[in-house]
Amino acid sequence: MIYVALGANIAGPAGPPEATIAAALKRIAQRGGLTLERASRMYRTEPQHVRAQPWFLNQVAAFRPVDNATTTPEDVLNVLQAVEMELGRDRSWEIRFGPRALDLDLLLFDQVRMQTPRLTLPHPRMRDRAFVLVPLLDIAPELVLPDGTRLSEALAGLQYRVHNDVIRQ
Ligand code: ATP
Ligand code: CA
Ligand code: CA
Repeated sequence: MIYVALGANIAGPAGPPEATIAAALKRIAQRGGLTLERASRMYRTEPQHVRAQPWFLNQVAAFRPVDNATTTPEDVLNVLQAVEMELGRDRSWEIRFGPRALDLDLLLFDQVRMQTPRLTLPHPRMRDRAFVLVPLLDIAPELVLPDGTRLSEALAGLQYRVHNDVIRQ
């Protein structure tokens, strides 16, 4: 299974963050030859690091390749980056952890562990982020990470609060 984190906090060509994320799910499936298996609830999350910006909308989705044999992690990253561009991500002016129309992170590709200049799996910061692990737990409660840690254990190590659809950390 392929797990992708979606985040947005400013409008793009497809509209507000809700519309951008919905459009992104469809495009990832189409472009990547992937089937959307599950999508978490949408969460509102407080920005970390750069505080003076709109809250983020975050979701995590699970995809399965239509053709298991030929889809690589790099293929998926290429699709995610193309969809980010199409839906208004503009890296020319953005700042790290600042506002963006769409951010697509590849969290997990089956149990693959890898590190290249372009792609690290699992996503290196996912374990620190309630806004990633909480929605991931929605759709994969029994998930075990490639190092053998249960997702539920990883989440138990973080300090955060969830109320309705709001995550604070
Ligand atoms: P963070 O990675 O901390 O969530 P970010 O999403 O804002 O920060 P980006 O500017 O979107 O960072 O991405 C920086 C680079 O990370 C990309 O150019 C990409 O090549 C690389 N990268 C490495 N591993 C991954 C991954 N698992 N998913 C997405 N991008 C990755
Ligand atoms: Ca990110
Ligand atoms: Ca990213």
